[in-house]
Amino acid sequence: MSIYSIALLTWWLGVLEGVKAISFDVDDTLWDFDSIMQSALSAVVEELNLRGLNLDFRITVDSLDVTWQNLRDHQKGQITDLVQLRKDSITAALKQIGITDRLLTTELTDLYFRVRHENNLPFEDVLPALNVLKEHFTLGTLTNGNTRPASLGIDGIFDFQVLSVEHGGMEKPDPRIFQIAVDEAGCQPNELLHVGDHLEYDVLGALRSGVRSAWVNRRAVHPSINVTPDIEVATIQELADLHLRNLAN
Ligand SMILES: [Mg+2]
Repeated sequence: MSIYSIALLTWWLGVLEGVKAISFDVDDTLWDFDSIMQSALSAVVEELNLRGLNLDFRITVDSLDVTWQNLRDHQKGQITDLVQLRKDSITAALKQIGITDRLLTTELTDLYFRVRHENNLPFEDVLPALNVLKEHFTLGTLTNGNTRPASLGIDGIFDFQVLSVEHGGMEKPDPRIFQIAVDEAGCQPNELLHVGDHLEYDVLGALRSGVRSAWVNRRAVHPSINVTPDIEVATIQELADLHLRNLAN
């Protein structure tokens, strides 16, 4: 091991020192939300194609996603019903090709969520790692989405769950939602480690809130914004390994 690696490991070992609780982002941190969402949007496009309604194939996975993002950005900080938001975005997309059909919108929204709720599984490393961390830390979730751990088959692990939709739509990186997680965890801000895949929502949000942060970079991407997490890991298992090393020292 090089001197650099030893220094880095020593630094990282210190990251968990004094940590009493860990909050986890859910989507793309505990499970592969992005892939399932793409599949669900594909199913919607296919259904429109099958019915011969997608003239000139103007509705695509990307266009549905853009319509959703636009609506989401417009209502940012106030979203309390993500199912309705999805439905509204499908309504808006259909309107762009001249279709106003409430029944069709409902059917397509149902189809979207049916596919999204199929094969909901956590990433492979998640359950074993959480079981290790649970022995020592209070664990919780803190999400801007609406996925509950139970729907991923994760039961009895988390002590608290904070969902933006249940707090008037207040979202990460807003420090107020981090403070709710701190309160739920029953610790001081710097005794909470927040773990997430999104540099702005999870890492910058934690930094602004006095909470420690771990960036889960599963796809080894380059940082999109200039913010430094307390630690970067490729998996949740790396955090569990770090904790086990701490115990051994
Ligand atoms: Mg995420």
